Amino acid sequence: MTTMHKTTPQTGFDLAAVPTGLFIGGTWRPGSTGQRIDVIDPSTGAAIAAVADASVEDAMVAVQAATDAGTGWAATAPRKRSEILRRCFELMVERKDMLAQLISLENGKALSDAQGEVAYAAEFFRWFAEEAVRLNGEISTAPSGANKIIVQHQPIGVAVLVTPWNFPAAMATRKIAPALAAGCTCVLKPATETPLTAYALAALFAEAGVPDGVVNVITTGRSGPVVSAMLHDPRVRKLSFTGSTEVGRRLLHEAADTVISCSMELGGNAPFIVFDDADLDAAIEGAMIAKMRNGGEACTAANRFYVQGGIAEAFSQRLAERMGAMQVGPGYEAATQCGPLINQGAVDRIAGLIDDASSRGAKVLTGGRPLDRQGFYFPPTVIAGVAGDATIMQEEIFGPVAAIATFASEDEVIAAANATEYGLIAYVYTRDLARGLRVSERLESGMVGLNRGIVSDPAAPFGGVKQSGLGREGAHHGILEFCETKYIAVSWG
Ligand code: NAD
Repeated sequence: MTTMHKTTPQTGFDLAAVPTGLFIGGTWRPGSTGQRIDVIDPSTGAAIAAVADASVEDAMVAVQAATDAGTGWAATAPRKRSEILRRCFELMVERKDMLAQLISLENGKALSDAQGEVAYAAEFFRWFAEEAVRLNGEISTAPSGANKIIVQHQPIGVAVLVTPWNFPAAMATRKIAPALAAGCTCVLKPATETPLTAYALAALFAEAGVPDGVVNVITTGRSGPVVSAMLHDPRVRKLSFTGSTEVGRRLLHEAADTVISCSMELGGNAPFIVFDDADLDAAIEGAMIAKMRNGGEACTAANRFYVQGGIAEAFSQRLAERMGAMQVGPGYEAATQCGPLINQGAVDRIAGLIDDASSRGAKVLTGGRPLDRQGFYFPPTVIAGVAGDATIMQEEIFGPVAAIATFASEDEVIAAANATEYGLIAYVYTRDLARGLRVSERLESGMVGLNRGIVSDPAAPFGGVKQSGLGREGAHHGILEFCETKYIAVSWG
């Protein structure tokens, strides 16, 4: 299966080399509906490819392929699995430029962000290649002395993986690598907006030696029924989802019917707190990364800036200067620092958030209106004096907008930061380490960046509390999400 355009006029990238059919049981298939889904380049708004549109029946074939491959993969020696994962890492690094261009084409993010994503995505294979041979159990003597207690971690079984469009490579590898390391097989359903990266990765994994049926990839324009059917199939034992809290809640309801184990990486509303004693240069650098990585389209993006009164004016001005100077343009152009948003709906939604904040007294320091050009562009924007009840302080912005409010005391800012249903990540800047740690402990979030604007690391447990999610990805915790704990009571005399 190949794409409808051989090359894209903008980049010369050879899209014809990227498969666009369903990848099931090691073969590429058109899908039983015969229908196709257009893939849009957000930098121009033009269709650049079309991928297969899977039906519920196709999904069932994929689940069967994963089931058929399951026993053999679970029985494959950990060392062998580890070496295949390591090969996936190496091939991703070898092909990093091609993968970054592809991500930039279908997602719109700046090429530098796409390159960062590929490096991060590949690291999950290196990390879990190392974890695959360290899945140790336990043995102990029962307190009564009557028997031994053996604890093992067994592969949970067929896993359904559902991923968003904002990190088309990394959100997939953050699930596939631990699933395969644990001995599970999977069906990946990537976001409809960014399917090409998933298919390019599927081809790469096959080349790296991942056996047929161990990783299956299906794209569909009917995510609801397709995912629901898989979650109601008794052959499926795991759901690992990354996406919005709204869809996550719906899938938790679905998974309840078959009591499927769920790992959920959901939305965020990260506070970025700057105390008066912060190193201002470091806080600005951290804010630029926390806000502008991926053009603000990240679950970890700083959403609400709380800056203490004594430093607020200087921080706001300097952030506005830095953000206002960013080069906006097509993601795949080398000079671009901020690419387009994913679609027109995102542009309209963000314009609405700024209008709402302005009507409640916020002042626009830079940006503020969509750019009048082809594609889905919104300029880096800073608004200050944002009221606590402005919608932008309650909802995930998912774009290049920094909303700044001021605060007076530590207790006040902790209360404001925690006043949300979300709890993924928070950022804190202060030179006082004792205060930094004290505040970090009181913040209701799964992760804290203390004097750092980025925390993502395959060796660290990534995940949220409250309605930002369940479970953790990465670290040793990541592989355990794909395992069942087996306890064997043994008497050996
Ligand atoms: P989304 O929830 O709309 O979609 C995520 C995935 O779910 C996509 O594959 C989509 O096709 C699928 N989907 C949509 N409706 C479905 C349904 N009814 N049944 C089954 N599947 C369905 O999210 P998005 O817009 O693709 O991504 C942005 C969201 O993802 C943001 O909220 C962001 O915070 C979140 N996110 C979270 C993390 C994290 O690690 N916590 C990482 C990246 C993105």
